Amino acid sequence: MEHVFVVTGASRGIGAATASLAAQAGYRVVRASRSAEESVGDRGWDARCDVSSWDSVQDLMSRVESRWGRIDVVYANAGISVDTSFVSSSGAEPSEWTDMVVTNVCGPAFTARAAMPALLRSGGHLVLTGSAAGRGVRPGNLYSATKWAITGLAQAIRAEAVGTGVRVTVVQPGLVDTDAIPASRVDDPKLEPEDVGRAVLYAVSQPSTVDVNEILIRPTGQAAHR
Ligand code: NDP
Repeated sequence: MEHVFVVTGASRGIGAATASLAAQAGYRVVRASRSAEESVGDRGWDARCDVSSWDSVQDLMSRVESRWGRIDVVYANAGISVDTSFVSSSGAEPSEWTDMVVTNVCGPAFTARAAMPALLRSGGHLVLTGSAAGRGVRPGNLYSATKWAITGLAQAIRAEAVGTGVRVTVVQPGLVDTDAIPASRVDDPKLEPEDVGRAVLYAVSQPSTVDVNEILIRPTGQAAHR
């Protein structure tokens, strides 16, 4: 049976690029996002899913496994960034701070939890999008804290998954040229979304004896924490 690759946050940016590369590599690919128009073919599936909702994520995994019979790779990539300064009075409303924490932290946790039964059956691979900002610190930005949380989440899942055959990888990109980057950083050196996608495909293509825990990728000339 052909292997199945699920990507959240696949309507654009890093998720869309990774979904295309996974399709080229021969996977059947599920492209999940809130704005997706439901459409399923033999090899590709656009699926509506809001990762901040446990019910939505659980429904996605259950639909995929019942239709395509298995899930081999889950790339928990969906995420948002809002302006959260601690000292300036401008920026996002507190409710938007909450939305970001729920999307960036609970979203991948829900995705991992909902996918785990299928991944345990397939001996599959969970990949999470962290950030270079989750290794260092960007001033005044709660986003960094949500990405630090991804590193911790991956370690917690990995510790529990030891011996099960399930592998867990975090990709930690520096600045990537997508709609998500703030206007203040448009002139900074950037990666292309495909650069991140290639790192994801590299991790999941390794033999089962090799565990790729973290991949930090950043454009040449960028400080490691940006
Ligand atoms: P984009 O804004 O280009 O894409 C974000 C994707 O996530 C979209 O497909 C969006 O689709 C989806 N999404 C957002 N919220 C939800 C939700 N609640 N449920 C399901 N899907 C959702 O961002 P990027 O491609 O740049 O970012 C992807 C990931 O990479 C994020 O986790 C981000 O934090 C991380 N990252 C980005 C970097 C950058 O410089 N761009 C650097 C390091 C990490 P829709 O709106 O239709 O739901």
